[in-house]
Amino acid sequence: MSESAPSLVVDNLNVYYGAVHILHDISLEVFDREIVTLIGANGAGKTTLMMAISGIIPSRTGQIEFLGERTDSLPPHEISARGIAQVAQARHLFPALSVRENLELGAWRWPKRELAQQLDEIYTFFTVLRERRKQKAGSLSGGEQQMLALGRALMTRPRLLLLDEPSAGLAPIMVKEIARIVRKIRDERGLTTLLVEQNASLALHLADRGYVIERGRVAASGSTNELEESEAVRKAYLAV
Ligand code: ATP
Repeated sequence: MSESAPSLVVDNLNVYYGAVHILHDISLEVFDREIVTLIGANGAGKTTLMMAISGIIPSRTGQIEFLGERTDSLPPHEISARGIAQVAQARHLFPALSVRENLELGAWRWPKRELAQQLDEIYTFFTVLRERRKQKAGSLSGGEQQMLALGRALMTRPRLLLLDEPSAGLAPIMVKEIARIVRKIRDERGLTTLLVEQNASLALHLADRGYVIERGRVAASGSTNELEESEAVRKAYLAV
């Protein structure tokens, strides 16, 4: 899976909320086309790390490099323009707008003529969104809203997707469907994904590798097969 140079390199990152030190010397790498999961108990710092990568929360020391260039001092819109898209746990959809309008908001950067092609590609992955394209986003089920949030992020044609707890609050059948789509997009479009997920079996089955975050530090890392057996993972999930 891994190629020569990693797409994303986080090097000795330290993040604070005011005086409170949240992330301590975090280092990790994500290679092209990998699905890498961040595993950890509530409050371990997983979401904070995602938000530091997307530029929403500043880091105090350390570096973030994406495709060979520093991104840690860039504003979020420039990080997004370089190909990093985030799907936050809260989804941030516009409930009064239609499915199609929500998707189009993800593609504001593209010329109009490319929009239809891009929409069509998203509808190929998420057939339910095509069926419901005229429906208001607020009227969708939880699982469909998660697909819409994912679809809208993909409309930016990201190289790296930051996916925060896609399974939260969803029925098991929806969780399975979303996992299937994330893997299909990786296989067919070469998308690289960093995934935060409380659902242990989903995280370990979907990802190639993982990092266990414990109180803001990397406590363990390895292939998901290795991590499945590890004490650090058992501890992280027992503490959830
Ligand atoms: P969860 O799975 O519950 O989302 P997490 O691993 O994603 O957990 P974070 O949300 O990154 O953890 O939180 C890390 C720590 O930072 C926690 O102790 C949390 O209380 C704290 N924290 C989060 N947001 C803020 C904030 N805006 N101000 C101060 N502290 C915060």
